[in-house]
Amino acid sequence: MEVVLWPDPVLRRGVEPVEDPTSLAETARQMLDLMYRTEGVGLAAPQVGLTISLLVLNPSGDPERPEEELVLINPKIVSKKGKEFAQEGCLSFPEIYGDVQRAQRIVVTATDADDNETELRAEDFLARVIQHEMDHLKGVVFIDRFTPADRIRIRAQLEELEERYRKLNAPT
Ligand code: ZN
Repeated sequence: MEVVLWPDPVLRRGVEPVEDPTSLAETARQMLDLMYRTEGVGLAAPQVGLTISLLVLNPSGDPERPEEELVLINPKIVSKKGKEFAQEGCLSFPEIYGDVQRAQRIVVTATDADDNETELRAEDFLARVIQHEMDHLKGVVFIDRFTPADRIRIRAQLEELEERYRKLNAPT
């Protein structure tokens, strides 16, 4: 398992609902381990090439704090309140950062890998990470939400990623 980089089309594809959450315990564990190794705080299934409704996160980014790990399967946002701007990055866009507006507080329903339904209330940074990862499940990436000025600022970095992808995937 490795992190899929922009502009791999799997990042735009969207996902299917998960029928059997208990089948994903091992996948979720591998995604969390990969997330820690790459120093992220969240990872969505499309970022490892899987088109299923699964995301993992740990807002501390610290493998020594497993109590903060969350595995969300078939997540749905049931309410959103407030708005705030803050800087985000994404493991699929190395070294690209920009401000994104997100809801300040959200309520999410999801299932975990033991097939327990949970309702989660999150605010500020945790709410932001969840919204960022849930966007991935819809094929939306954070640069879609950048301001026009930030899009111009990152254009050369995006072109570099696109060039790298073309070279890696060129027919031989
Ligand atoms: Zn991301």
